Amino acid sequence: MAKTDPIIVIIEDDPPIRRFLRTGLRTQGFSVFEADTGKQGIIEAGVRKPDLVILDLGLPDMDGVDVIKAIRAWSKLPIIILSARSSEQHKVDALDAGADDYLTKPFGFGELMARIRVALRHSIRPQDQVQADVFATANLKVDLLNRVVSIDDQEIHLTPIQYRLLTVLIKHAGKVLTHQQILKEVWGPSYQENAHYLRIYMSQLRQKLEADPTQPKFLLTESGVGYRLKV
Ligand code: CA
Repeated sequence: MAKTDPIIVIIEDDPPIRRFLRTGLRTQGFSVFEADTGKQGIIEAGVRKPDLVILDLGLPDMDGVDVIKAIRAWSKLPIIILSARSSEQHKVDALDAGADDYLTKPFGFGELMARIRVALRHSIRPQDQVQADVFATANLKVDLLNRVVSIDDQEIHLTPIQYRLLTVLIKHAGKVLTHQQILKEVWGPSYQENAHYLRIYMSQLRQKLEADPTQPKFLLTESGVGYRLKV
């Protein structure tokens, strides 16, 4: 039975990067469509009905963040952004506008494929559904049904907020979350400016769960952006 190839739209004005993406993604079995401006990209995203969009934030005709907002007006399809190393605030704005993940240029193709797999998995399985009864990564195991957290099968006691923070990260496992997104989910919309809460609780969580809290293995910091639970 013929299965339709998953479709990816690339919105990027730099021809060598487009070529690099197109060649690699076709080898991986994706149908690839391209746009070199934001306006054209929004049209392609509407016409091609892609499974995923790869979007460069620095486009000649419009800000990539506005491309995200335009797509988000009608679709939840996964958007992975490409950005320059220097623009952390731009990345945060893009993630807060609804992008799913980001890669900083230059990046390797393996890294991109890992991000694509996570983004596609999240889009197939809605994020607000509990994904499984037990979540496990490295030596961490979380029994979500019975609310039991363990490290190397040793039960670890977490406070209610520490536990909630951990379950928010588990819900989005593999994906980067901005400080604002985490604050909103754990503490509520009126706490979005209280980034110090998050720093304190993340540090407590690492003290309890990571073998070396200064070199976290799974509660990862995304510098200047937020956090990611490694899967
Ligand atoms: Ca560019």
